[in-house]
Amino acid sequence: MTKKHLFEYSNDNKRYYTYSYYLKQTYQQKVFRIPLDAGFTCPNRDGHSAYGGCSFCSIDGSGDSILGNNLEEQIENGFHTMRNKWPEGLALAYFQAFTNTYAPLPVLKQLYDPFITDNRFVGIVIATRADCLDDDTIDYLSQLNQIKPVWIEIGLQSVHETTTRYINRGHNTQIVNEVVHKLKEKNLLVCLHIINGLPYETKEMMIETIKYCAQLKINGIKIHMYHLIKNTLEAYRYSKKPYPILSRDEYVDIVVDQLGYLHKECVVMRLTGDGLMDNLIEPQWTTNKTIVLNEIDKKMKRENRIQGDRYEKHQ
Ligand code: SF4
Repeated sequence: MTKKHLFEYSNDNKRYYTYSYYLKQTYQQKVFRIPLDAGFTCPNRDGHSAYGGCSFCSIDGSGDSILGNNLEEQIENGFHTMRNKWPEGLALAYFQAFTNTYAPLPVLKQLYDPFITDNRFVGIVIATRADCLDDDTIDYLSQLNQIKPVWIEIGLQSVHETTTRYINRGHNTQIVNEVVHKLKEKNLLVCLHIINGLPYETKEMMIETIKYCAQLKINGIKIHMYHLIKNTLEAYRYSKKPYPILSRDEYVDIVVDQLGYLHKECVVMRLTGDGLMDNLIEPQWTTNKTIVLNEIDKKMKRENRIQGDRYEKHQ
């Protein structure tokens, strides 16, 4: 008799749609991600949208964990590391660093086409910005998606314009709205990144952000805790005028409620960030990801919560 799990999109005791469940159901074998830096920059740093980047962003543009000087090395290192654990494992090419559609279409084709024909890769994940996805690029990506799944990850961070102006996101939320609709019309898989604990945001504001994501019926979400990183504009601002940083309990409380407002078909691809020890100023509790995840599980169990249990009520 097959064991019945608490939540229909989980193969363990989780009460939300786990990424591991999604990968297993989609590919029926072990699939890992190889993080890649294809040498892009970011329009929010070079003056195209703004200068200086988002106020919290490290100089590596969120690609801090990538190993290797060029794509070939990164792929080789990625397979070497992962296949030590899973010799038969297949990979998703995860273009993680900076804005991976910030180039003319011929350049994008030259980069992404080989991953479609390379059988070691079963899909492509492209992190980018909503203001770097024009119609021609979306058409091209949708063609790739007909051959292998293509996920588009977009940094929303917050739905609130006061916050996005403060963090210098460099484009308004209406652009995110339009682009997500276009991507979904073309059947591309859309994941939004949001950040809890951004400066001066309240819990209610963070709940509004997740409701916005749910209303867009995105395919996946990454929920991050705000990290105050050394050598960023935000680190400077904080040193001049400190503001409250969420405690672990506050974060857990917010995430559990956010999961309730999320549609249950949304893959939860991340529930907290990886705190990088060397660069992290605050909060130090994020360096222990396991405790954060366990606390989320415990609270959901204690309160008998599951993903989507509040979803219908706000539609
Ligand atoms: S858009 Fe991304 S890479 Fe660019 S500055 Fe913001 S967080 Fe960093």
